[in-house]
Amino acid sequence: MMPKKFASLLLSGAFKAVSRTHVYPQCVAKELSNYHPSAPCFSRFFSSGKGEGKKVLGVFYKAHEYADNPEFLGCAENALGIREWLESQGHTYVVTSDKEGPDSELDRELPDTNILITTPFHPAYITKERLAKGKNLELLVTAGIGSDHIDLRAAAEKGLTVAEVTGSNTSSVAEDEVLRILVLVRNFLPGWRQTWEGKWNVAAIAYKAHDLSDKVVGTVGAGRIGQLLMQRLKGFDLKQMLYYDRNSIGEEREKELGATRETDLDTMLAKCDVVVVNTPLTDQTRGLFNKERISKMKKGAYIVNNARGAIADVDAVKEAVESGQLGGYGGDVWNEQPAPKDHPWRYMPSQAMTPHISGTTLDAQARYAAGTKDILDKWFKHEPLPKSYYIVREGQLASQYL
Ligand code: NAD
Repeated sequence: MMPKKFASLLLSGAFKAVSRTHVYPQCVAKELSNYHPSAPCFSRFFSSGKGEGKKVLGVFYKAHEYADNPEFLGCAENALGIREWLESQGHTYVVTSDKEGPDSELDRELPDTNILITTPFHPAYITKERLAKGKNLELLVTAGIGSDHIDLRAAAEKGLTVAEVTGSNTSSVAEDEVLRILVLVRNFLPGWRQTWEGKWNVAAIAYKAHDLSDKVVGTVGAGRIGQLLMQRLKGFDLKQMLYYDRNSIGEEREKELGATRETDLDTMLAKCDVVVVNTPLTDQTRGLFNKERISKMKKGAYIVNNARGAIADVDAVKEAVESGQLGGYGGDVWNEQPAPKDHPWRYMPSQAMTPHISGTTLDAQARYAAGTKDILDKWFKHEPLPKSYYIVREGQLASQYL
């Protein structure tokens, strides 16, 4: 039964038009919230208070002197290249890179934001508290892949939609993984450093340099990136290409990729010369590469982790690299971003670490900028998003995050 007060509001014509969901004026939305404060997807009923115009808040890294390149869409200055388009439709677009602490611009702008765009490269940690602050939030878009910087369960509880541009940087990341594997296995970086330092010492490099061919490589996670990595590695004449994933990729795909599935992670790890991490960060994968697990790996094996820093234990990795249990560790993701100046992974030996860059090449930026625009366009038109883009939808988390 509709409450009397709300029914009279409906009859009084206090709202403009009822085209599907979020066109209720603020007064009706308030009334609704009085009656159904915990209704799922409820935030979609709120308008921005500016007619149909939404307030979109984007949080990106600042490019400063590098922002001149118009193709550099991922930075705060160019803000995915969607400003003109958004504003021409009557939406407001606020962009910031200031995201740390409760007095940040992000926090100040959140209360009346409808749509929040963030990116893993400059992660704004969207905690339960921030979600509570964002009373008008309806959609959270990750420009890129990997939405673990958002408290996804809290977003689901609030009935929010979280979407990412699935596939947008798959090739960029897989390619970077090939690079890091080679850099580690060939012991390339000490040689590069010698060049800069005016030195010449072949022995200091050669004593620990290998070919990749005839080695065993295993990927933990064989989704989009994991499978593309296996495809890219086909030309290296590996001894074996192994994968561990809770889902089989199917016999046909295994044949195509020359890959063999291992159903027990530790069994696979003991066989691998190189292990590449390609799972999302979830409750199951957080800290997966701890001291005990690393001790089960082949001595001197390498880990490449472009997935998420927190999948590996910081101290366990550092100690294993120092002791030689790991031949090296490389990746672009850290448990904390930006990594503090004294982060142990910066200074450990045999590492191929960089800031979070693998998925933000100019090509990837073009794809995730276009994907973000597509998500927004569909959202404004109340059209469904491509299925694979949904990370949280109607209270449900996407399967890869469970
Ligand atoms: P995906 O969803 O296509 O694949 C993830 C795979 O992991 C799935 O096959 C899933 O079954 C598997 N998986 C999940 N949890 C598992 C578990 N506990 N045990 C075994 N398998 C498990 O995702 P993707 O596009 O391949 O991306 C993978 C991750 O890479 C992202 O979630 C993100 O964290 C990271 N990423 C990093 C960058 C970067 O710039 N460094 C860019 C893109 C993605």
